Amino acid sequence: MKVLVINCGSSSLKYQLIDMDGEKVLCKGLCERIGMESSMITHEANGHKATTPAIFPTHTEAFAEVVKKMTTGEGKCINDVSEIDAIGHRVVHGGEKFKSSCLITDEVIETLRELSPLAPLHNPAGILGIEAARKVFGNIPMVAVFDTAFHSTMPPKAYMYAIPYEYYEKYGVRRYGFHGTSHKYVAGRAAAMLGKPIEELKLISCHLGNGSSIAAVDGGKSVDTSMGFTPLAGLPMGTRSGDLDAGILEYIMGKYGYDIKEMVSILNKKSGVQGVSGVSSDFRDLENAHKEGNERAGLAVDMFNYGVKKYIGAYAAAMGGVDAIIFTAGVGENSASQRLAIASDLEFMGVKMDAEANSVRGKETVISAADSKVKVLLIPTNEELMIAMDTASIVKG
Ligand code: AMP
Repeated sequence: MKVLVINCGSSSLKYQLIDMDGEKVLCKGLCERIGMESSMITHEANGHKATTPAIFPTHTEAFAEVVKKMTTGEGKCINDVSEIDAIGHRVVHGGEKFKSSCLITDEVIETLRELSPLAPLHNPAGILGIEAARKVFGNIPMVAVFDTAFHSTMPPKAYMYAIPYEYYEKYGVRRYGFHGTSHKYVAGRAAAMLGKPIEELKLISCHLGNGSSIAAVDGGKSVDTSMGFTPLAGLPMGTRSGDLDAGILEYIMGKYGYDIKEMVSILNKKSGVQGVSGVSSDFRDLENAHKEGNERAGLAVDMFNYGVKKYIGAYAAAMGGVDAIIFTAGVGENSASQRLAIASDLEFMGVKMDAEANSVRGKETVISAADSKVKVLLIPTNEELMIAMDTASIVKG
């Protein structure tokens, strides 16, 4: 079965065609600057990768070009679109309506539209992508896979905010959580690596990248997560503040004369490790700057690592124990020094790192000591494969 995985942004379209027999990536690529001048497509297949200029007034033209790249020329990987059995779309916000992936119908699209106010930057792009794909791919079954769905198992005590209850009842203000597809994938891989049924495991999944979130996964179900109503919450991130005292907003708005839109934009785009360091949102730059003596770059990384460590302690307490801690995404997969900083000095709770095993990047590895009661695992995430797996299983019924 061949599944095309689609991840649409407002001006971009990422795709990957996966053959589920052997989980082989047949091609992947990215359309950029959709709706702007100088659009382009990067397509990779058969060991051949090329970026070419294109004209993409809308996502529809971008999809048509993707089809052309897949079926002709050096990047050809199928003879005809009819070989594609299903399409899986990444959708950021499923609200309380979508607790799992689902087949896309007119009704589903309408509900997604109703949910757009919850994710104004992301869901409209997802809908655009779905509608454009329907125009180009006709009757191929399509599935929506939500970033929020994996967290729909959280209990009310974890997802409610301590503000007037009517905000939840009337407007759906609650913790939803994100990165669910990644947390679900690595939790499944962790169970496979440990050779135990996921139902018997308590896991803490640390998705640490430009955006970061932690999830407490008990028996295969998310029971708490660090992101909230929006992806601004939880850990400090590349440019996002993470949690902060809401009282700061009024104070700074008064000092600088910002309105609420400007303030929230600063919290999303000019804060996090970028804001603290004044150097970069990229952890590699921060590591280099710190080596060259930039104290604030070191502070930003320390704050991030300390934040992750606190969540690990909190979620172990929330679940009454932990069998394994998982590191994934850009920082989690690549930064041995940050993994060590985060998971060191946790012997009191049964976590003992193995520095040598930890000197690895990007491959599934147990990085805790042989006698560590709690295993620490490096697991590269694969959201595309997870979307394809969900899509295949729904289409097969
Ligand atoms: P992601 O959002 O998952 O693509 O992760 C992006 C983040 O991973 C960026 O901040 C990168 O700096 C970080 N990253 C990638 N490679 C490394 C590395 N070798 N050491 C530290 N951070 C890294």
